Amino acid sequence: MRRPGGAAYKRAVTELAVVCDFDGTATLLDLGDEISRHFCGSEYLALQKKLFLEGKLDTRSIIQSIYTPIRAGEAEVVAFALQAAKLRPGFPELIAAARDRGAPFYLASGGLRQYVEAVIAAHLAPALRGYVQVRANEAVFSPGGLRVEFPGDAQSRALGCKVCGSCKRVAIAEARRSGAKYVLGIGDGFADRCLVKFADRTFAREDSYLHRYCRENHLDCTPFTDLFGAADAVRSWPKGT
Ligand SMILES: [Mg+2]
Repeated sequence: MRRPGGAAYKRAVTELAVVCDFDGTATLLDLGDEISRHFCGSEYLALQKKLFLEGKLDTRSIIQSIYTPIRAGEAEVVAFALQAAKLRPGFPELIAAARDRGAPFYLASGGLRQYVEAVIAAHLAPALRGYVQVRANEAVFSPGGLRVEFPGDAQSRALGCKVCGSCKRVAIAEARRSGAKYVLGIGDGFADRCLVKFADRTFAREDSYLHRYCRENHLDCTPFTDLFGAADAVRSWPKGT
């Protein structure tokens, strides 16, 4: 089929799909944390992380709580995210590798759709951007505070996860329904714990929460600092397997 940009994608070859996290994986910084730190203060963000580590907040709850005090509007928050965002080296090459072999590419984020889409629009060429399927939460901005909607919550619960709100197993299930036999997962944070459990191979950012979680739980993962290795893995993944 043809997409904007004129590229012809080999949609019939779908034995592999990629489910990639956004914050701290596709980008160098976690933009959700940066937004919270900027608009709510470092102490507030640190307290939310402490409550999470103590088990007093689950994944869904911390995704909401880090943003709750934000009174700024969408334009101001997105503008801040855009100036803070830098893509991780190898991310465009990773998408190109997936596109070139017809592997669906899901950008599955526990972050907010508004800044995810703005960042990829600003940093990716249209031919690559058009290939990325964004799955993210939705910010509802208001003078009373920022509320997060979780469009994937019902599907997450149906698939057995009550804590993520936007569990990455939803994107993995979508990839498998589209015909993928193998899913390559790439991530770094606590919202990627379900990713590593359900993907067939996982790349975890070196020394990240996810990398430590994999080590502690004896889960296989390939550490990364840039995404060229993941792009190579996509390119060299055996076809027809
Ligand atoms: Mg992340």
